[in-house]
Amino acid sequence: MHFVTMKIQGEERIGLTDEAQNYVLDLHKAQKELGNGTVLPSTLLEGIEQGESFIESMAKLRDHVFMQRDSESYFYPMGEIHLLAPIPRPRKNIFCVGKNYRDHVLEMGSEGDIPEHIMIFTKSPTSVIGPGASIESHENLTDQLDYEGELAIVIGKSGKGISIEDAMDHVFGYTIVNDITARDMQKRHKQFFLGKSLDGSCPMGPTIVHKSFMEDPQSLIVETKVNGEVRQRESTGLMIFSIPEIIATISKGMTLEPGDIIATGTPAGVGKGFEPPRFLKKGDVVEVSVEKIGTLKNVVV
Ligand code: MG
Repeated sequence: MHFVTMKIQGEERIGLTDEAQNYVLDLHKAQKELGNGTVLPSTLLEGIEQGESFIESMAKLRDHVFMQRDSESYFYPMGEIHLLAPIPRPRKNIFCVGKNYRDHVLEMGSEGDIPEHIMIFTKSPTSVIGPGASIESHENLTDQLDYEGELAIVIGKSGKGISIEDAMDHVFGYTIVNDITARDMQKRHKQFFLGKSLDGSCPMGPTIVHKSFMEDPQSLIVETKVNGEVRQRESTGLMIFSIPEIIATISKGMTLEPGDIIATGTPAGVGKGFEPPRFLKKGDVVEVSVEKIGTLKNVVV
C-alpha cells in the first residue's frame, strides 16, 4: 500500500495511490459514503499508531470501493491533487544518520572520517514541507544551501532496546526525505541543528510505502536530480550502517515510537562534493527519487 496525505477543501485526508502513482483513492470520501464499518483515523500519523489493524481496515475499504459500480468517483488523478508531506507535522524531530555512504564521506573529507559508530543528528518538525512545496533559499542566512536525497524509515511499533533481529518488525514503511542543509551555518555554529532545521529544509514524500510492498529496502536506487541533471545515484545496499543497525542503535536507550522518521543518510554527489561546489540557487528544481516510493520534487525560491 502506498499512502499519501492530501489537502482537499482545506481538509487533510488520507489517500492510497496505485503502484504507478497515476491515481489517488480518497479514503475519507469512500468511508463517508460507503461506510463499510471502517473507522478512519483523521491523519496518517494516527493510522500508523493503530498498527496492523489500520492496514487491514484500509485494505478492506479499498476492496469495497473496487466493488462499486461508480468506483471512479473515489479516485483523483495524482497530478491534480494537493499533496502534503505524508506526515506533515511529525511529533518529534526527524532523526538523521550522517555519513552513511562511504563515497559521500570521502567527498566531504577523507577516509579517516568514516564513522566507527553511527552518527545521528535531528531536524526540527517545522522544517517539513510536502511534495511540490517551495524550498526557501534563506539568502539572508546562507549562500551554501545543499541537497541530500535519502531513503527514510517510518517507525510503526514502539520499542526500546530493539535487537537487530527484531528491528524490521518496528518499521511501518518508507518514504523519501531531502535533507536540505545550509553548509556554512553547519560550519559556523559548530553543530548540525541550525543548518539542518531551516523552515522548508525537510521536503518529504510523496508517499509512505508500507513495508509489505517493499521487498528489500537495502537494494533501492536513490537518485537526485537538479534541473534534470543527475547528481546522486546510488543503491541503499551501500549504506555503512544498515536499517536494522540504525534502529537498534537509536533505540538502545531511547524509545522509538510510531510515526518517528529516520532519514538514513545521503549518497555521494551533494553540491559541496563538487569542485567548485554547486550549491542550490533560486529557481533550481530538485527531484529525489527512490524506487517504489516515487519522486519528491521541490523548487528553490
Ligand atoms: Mg543527510
